Amino acid sequence: MDRVADRIDAKAPHPVGQSTGLSDALGRRFEYLRLSLTDMCNFRCTYCLPDGYRKAKGAPSNLSPEEIVRLVRAFATLGLWKIRLTGGEPTLRKEFNEIAGAVSNVPGIRRLAMTTNGYRLPERAQSFYDAGIRAINISIDSLDAAKFKQITGHARLEEVLDGIEAARAAGIENIKINTVLMRDLNHMEIDDFLEFVAARDISLRVIEVMRTNDNPGFFKSHHLPGENVTDRLEQLGWTRLPRVSGAGPAVEYGHADAKGRIGIIAPYSKDFCASCNRLRVSATGKFHLCLFGDGGIDLRPLLVSDHQQDELVARITALTMTKAPSHLLQQGNSGATPHLASIGG
Ligand code: SAM
Ligand code: SF4
Repeated sequence: MDRVADRIDAKAPHPVGQSTGLSDALGRRFEYLRLSLTDMCNFRCTYCLPDGYRKAKGAPSNLSPEEIVRLVRAFATLGLWKIRLTGGEPTLRKEFNEIAGAVSNVPGIRRLAMTTNGYRLPERAQSFYDAGIRAINISIDSLDAAKFKQITGHARLEEVLDGIEAARAAGIENIKINTVLMRDLNHMEIDDFLEFVAARDISLRVIEVMRTNDNPGFFKSHHLPGENVTDRLEQLGWTRLPRVSGAGPAVEYGHADAKGRIGIIAPYSKDFCASCNRLRVSATGKFHLCLFGDGGIDLRPLLVSDHQQDELVARITALTMTKAPSHLLQQGNSGATPHLASIGG
């Protein structure tokens, strides 16, 4: 048994398997939680934290490992089987490996994933695998070292690329690259990314830049609609793959000559929200039903004791029913989200 599990009551009720699952009023089903471990980040991505991370005055502390395990147990009781650790930069959390180990041991959790900027990944990948990480998304917005530095504020492209190989060598088989494609910044690299993926058994997620409260000027200058990417893919002979049941909003493409695949995440496209299977909890315990909603709902008061599990499960179930049918991004409304690091992208 891991150390966090030692510190909490193993007999607390968490009847995995008895639930009929978690869904909302529109019948969208949820099997997957994105859990932020910190809003802190060491990178300064131009669309996210261009001036670097600043701790908000009076901000509550991050959830403790014990609170996290209680939270994950409640979601597992409701049939969720996959957790993605994210942030900010989740690996900056000192107890990252301890938390990953504890979460991966929660009954019902079958897949533990993480999203990272790849900082120090070459030396840490093995410890992530050993802690239970089986899927990793690594953010790479440019394959050109100077451009990578321009976008992230860090001259670390080589380290992040080495991190891909280290993750694979460590045994993490499910590896994805996240790339935010931006007009006049890296859009001219689309063919380079396609070649990169064609040569490797890897999946590339091309993400449309999203407008948040902090980046309206940047968004206006650099937003590139997802159709520009799909048009290019189709020109080069990539074809749309059939939708797998339960898949999220990414639209996937493959090519007969390519080892890897491409997924397009285009939140401004029609019907994007109809297949939304995402729920998020911020590092301080706020439940976010949409990235672009009006602030989260605090679950922390129900994470104090192991004996609040039933109440927590009931609260999550009731709140999930209220998930909005769609964000209002097309109308220029980004909700209360200053930047994605604040909630967990
Ligand atoms: N720091 C980690 C990373 O960058 O991978 C995890 C957190 S980050 C918020 C998660 C993902 O959100 C990254 O792939 C990042 O590129 C993406 N992202 C952040 N802000 C975004 C925005 N405004 N529009 C689209 N994607 C964004
Ligand atoms: Fe940090 Fe990720 Fe935001 Fe970049 S996208 S600033 S790495 S949280």
